[in-house]
Amino acid sequence: MTASAPQIDPPFLGEPYLLTPGPLTTSYEVKQAMLRDWGSWDDDFRAMTRDMRSRLLALLGEGAGEFDCVPMQGSGSFAVEAMLASFVPRDGKALVLANGAYGLRSAQTLQYLGRAHQVLDKGDYLPPRGDEVAAILACDPSITHVVAIHCETSSGILNPVEEISEAVYAAGRKLLIDSMSAFGAIELKPSQIRYEAMVSSANKCIEGVPGFGFVIARKAELEAAKGNSHSLSLDVHAQWAHMEKTGQWRFTPPTHVVAAFLEALKAHEAEGGVEGRGARYTRNRDVMVAGMRELGFETLLQNRWLSPIIVTFFCPADANFVFGRFYELMKEKGFIIYPGKLTVVDSFRVGCIGQMDEHVMRQVVTAAKETLAEMGVASAAPPAAALEERAKLAA
Ligand SMILES: *Cc1c(COP(=O)(O)O)cnc(C)c1O
Repeated sequence: MTASAPQIDPPFLGEPYLLTPGPLTTSYEVKQAMLRDWGSWDDDFRAMTRDMRSRLLALLGEGAGEFDCVPMQGSGSFAVEAMLASFVPRDGKALVLANGAYGLRSAQTLQYLGRAHQVLDKGDYLPPRGDEVAAILACDPSITHVVAIHCETSSGILNPVEEISEAVYAAGRKLLIDSMSAFGAIELKPSQIRYEAMVSSANKCIEGVPGFGFVIARKAELEAAKGNSHSLSLDVHAQWAHMEKTGQWRFTPPTHVVAAFLEALKAHEAEGGVEGRGARYTRNRDVMVAGMRELGFETLLQNRWLSPIIVTFFCPADANFVFGRFYELMKEKGFIIYPGKLTVVDSFRVGCIGQMDEHVMRQVVTAAKETLAEMGVASAAPPAAALEERAKLAA
């Protein structure tokens, strides 16, 4: 193979690449690992669960010994709900730092759970800053927990969790992190960022298929969580206690998904762990963003806030640009992109995660260029309103 050949196999049987933040494009080996049935009570499957939990913990690096990993059936939101219900006690109060759909979903979850909470809502994409958190905590001593979103996948912003953590613990409160779309590609080391618990899922940066999430929490918090949860099936303490005792999940585990995830974790390790995975995604982002900017597209976020997970672009102002058609033509060329989630201006998103490398990202840019030409879009420049919106970030 020449140096410029793709390092990663194309998707199976001509499937389009999923440029989406999970489900995402998985490897052939990950799919193949699902071609077998497992008994959930069997020693072989118990060993797989054990291996998976210890591999996930190992990703924390130094200090991992104080934590344990509790997988939870369902999509990522089930695991977020499990974390919030299990660690925010019924008489506690949470401050949710929201700058997009996932922050608001955590607030909505607390609403359902009947847990007192307050929301710092920064709108579509402005980052919650440490000094803002400190000011709110100073005013309200009843707040016990702060909930932060690591990468807010709706805009792709990488939130400053380090300064948030400093503000939280300086005020003697506790931090819970939704690291769903970041964990495995962006370091979240307890030796660098203090937190009590975090949550992620199988179908994001570890590159597994959807079916479960996992909570990684301090053992002291897991012990103290007994009796907090409103829910039998989402009780993290109960799942943990049962798993510690029997090696089994309490209720039917997604056996095939776990087998696929274990394969994905081995590939993650072979790629160089969090560092290697993060480096590939960063390269994906850099190549894709540079190419798209060359075509005239503008990113919502300035470079400082761009995550290597997913990037939001403004839709071009050109009247010939219609997102639905852009989407279909990109799909015909083998790339599934993602609609935007901004409330003020039209946008779309391109994911950088999954089984893709910079060669694929160059093809994405070429496909976008051809698509613009087919649509008769002369310029990909966004409307003035979009740039005014973005100027708020600099203010
Ligand atoms: C994907 C994601 C979730 C979970 O979403 P599900 O659709 O329930 O899997 C939660 N938070 C963030 C930041 C995410 O990216």
